[in-house]
Amino acid sequence: MTRYESLVARAPRMRGARALFTSRAGGEGPAPFDGLNLALHVGDDPAVVHRHRLALEAEVGVPVTYLDQVHSADVVVVRSGDDPRAVRTADAQVTRRTDVALAVMVADCLPVLLADGDAGVIAVAHAGRRGLLDGVLENTVAVMQQEGARPERLEVAIGPAICGACYEVPDRMREDAARTHPATAATTRWGTPGLDLRAGAVEVLRGQGIPAVNIRSDAPCTLEDGEFFSYRRASRTGRFAGVIRRSGSSRAQGDAGASRGDVRSA
Ligand SMILES: [Zn+2]
Repeated sequence: MTRYESLVARAPRMRGARALFTSRAGGEGPAPFDGLNLALHVGDDPAVVHRHRLALEAEVGVPVTYLDQVHSADVVVVRSGDDPRAVRTADAQVTRRTDVALAVMVADCLPVLLADGDAGVIAVAHAGRRGLLDGVLENTVAVMQQEGARPERLEVAIGPAICGACYEVPDRMREDAARTHPATAATTRWGTPGLDLRAGAVEVLRGQGIPAVNIRSDAPCTLEDGEFFSYRRASRTGRFAGVIRRSGSSRAQGDAGASRGDVRSA
């Protein structure tokens, strides 16, 4: 029993990959970062964040690559020989490697995990309003295809993110988004204009040829569920992560069990 035992909040099953979402659970540190904050850019104690990152690395068994996320539609590929500790500026990353895990950090934006278990290609994407509308998911699928993936085989897990009933935006912003992404148009619980980024993401992914049955988008709303960090709840807060690595490799022990679905998943 370690203090990090509950580090994995959710572990969606994906063929050929181990996928997980962290939450606030399992970390240390005072408010407003109380919990398993994984972000170095939010003002938290770097020593604490590094301990959290080491714990996550121990959990997944390989180095975890993070991005300098800037709400872009840019995708990078982690190729053999690349230093997994190098932090590149982008909002999605793709790899065929079995010895690294890919992460995105979020607090309301969508963490999207993708895998083609046959081709051995995995990806993570950070999709907020800007990235979603600018095509970060289309770009991610395109780069995965360049690496050998096929959309009809892709499995996708969309993690905890703010829901359409909570994400209030100005009317004009909803109109602009709906013009290109009709599914994003939503109404908040209190009757004002909203954006449903998850529905928008599903719409985009289906448009890329990914079967609806392969897309999971049933994770909780970050604003409603205090288990997760939410930027809308508190602008000064931490970030949790969506993480994926290829499984079935010979590198790390314990993979076989993990890839069968984590018993700690909710
Ligand atoms: Zn909500």
